[in-house]
Amino acid sequence: MKRLAILGSTGSIGTQALDVVAANPSLFEVEVLSAHSNATLLIEQAKRFKPNAVVVTDESKYKEVKDALMMLPIKVFGGAKALSEVVQWDSIDTVLGAVLGYAGLHSILAAIDAGKRIALANKETLVVAGELVMQRAAAKRVPIIPVDSEHSAIFQCLVGEDLNKVEKVILTASGGPFLGRKPNYLVNVKASHALQHPNWVMGAKITIDSATLMNKGLEIIEAKWLFGLKDDQIDVIIHPQSVIHSMVQFTDGSLKAQMGLPDMKLPIQYAIAYPERIYNDYKRLDFKDFSKLSFEAPDSKTFRNLQLAIDAMKKGGNAPCVLNAANEVVVHAFLQNKVGFLEMSEMIEKTMESVAFIAHPTIEDYVETDREARTQVTEFLKKSQLSIY
Ligand code: NDP
Ligand code: MG
Repeated sequence: MKRLAILGSTGSIGTQALDVVAANPSLFEVEVLSAHSNATLLIEQAKRFKPNAVVVTDESKYKEVKDALMMLPIKVFGGAKALSEVVQWDSIDTVLGAVLGYAGLHSILAAIDAGKRIALANKETLVVAGELVMQRAAAKRVPIIPVDSEHSAIFQCLVGEDLNKVEKVILTASGGPFLGRKPNYLVNVKASHALQHPNWVMGAKITIDSATLMNKGLEIIEAKWLFGLKDDQIDVIIHPQSVIHSMVQFTDGSLKAQMGLPDMKLPIQYAIAYPERIYNDYKRLDFKDFSKLSFEAPDSKTFRNLQLAIDAMKKGGNAPCVLNAANEVVVHAFLQNKVGFLEMSEMIEKTMESVAFIAHPTIEDYVETDREARTQVTEFLKKSQLSIY
């Protein structure tokens, strides 16, 4: 029986994780659930899964959740600090990190320091502070099992292998809804259009990141830290069918690929059940349904976010933290139709040029860098809106 804390239980990953838990009641027990502001769904989940505690990080929702769960033996906490405290409880053995964005960093670090196994969906944690996160995990001998489908694929390909015999990893990308499109088309696309991903159903932010290819850029950085790779050991290939989830090439030229239908419940299940591989009855991949699997190089001249992420990784230090903060802000603005699709890259680039570089950041430096990058990019956004009207 694994006792889980599911951080971000009301999101796309969180709700699918609860589906996996519900299908395997003899394997998993929910100790903690958390949401930011979706009190209604958190209350419903708490009544159904009966955790020991729930945390609502938006404190204005605390009373609503507390009142609704008053008659049940469920502790209710409010605020981000509470999340970092609750994850340390002895009763938890695995923490699923499925909070969105930079906001997930501190609770994951707290869980690692408390020696919890981590199933990690929150890629931004590794983008912002991958070196620090992996160092702390190594010091505590805490395994970090990826949930992101590409990284789960690589992790599965590496089971039983010698990491020194890896030549490179190849991350596959669907290409998103705008594959093959050029700037003259992209300049006019709106959020509603970008939210229609061809293969995956995900939260809004990552769906926009998939459309801009920032998601793949973030995943390159995520792979670097998870698997201890050099910058030039990570390739990206567009594979629109999303059947090969990623590949590893070894020093003898041999390649391993992990395949399956695009369904996030698979990597979620693998990560929370690891090292066991458990049964499910989900639809199986039938090769006869795919007459062709195709591959092409990504167009990083049009989808500039991919190159910006690679540049940030190569620069190192706090550069990926700046990239991530600027991206979170512009994606939020794009979702509200306050910035254009192509303008997002311009804003990120300008922010990367304007925030001071720190080669060896501490956790305090990351906090400050994130804050500064958000302030900067918000200024750029305001200026660009003023110039429109
Ligand atoms: P969603 O937006 O669907 O869900 C995010 C979750 O985090 C919600 O529970 C939300 O609560 C909570 N949350 C949001 N903001 C905060 C905050 N400031 N503090 C604490 N909790 C917060 O995102 P996804 O499930 O799509 O993604 C979660 C993570 O998993 C991301 O890092 C993403 O990159 C990664 N991932 C997602 C995949 C997917 O298929 N969705 C695939 C691979 C990786 P509330 O509902 O109350 O707002
Ligand atoms: Mg992915």
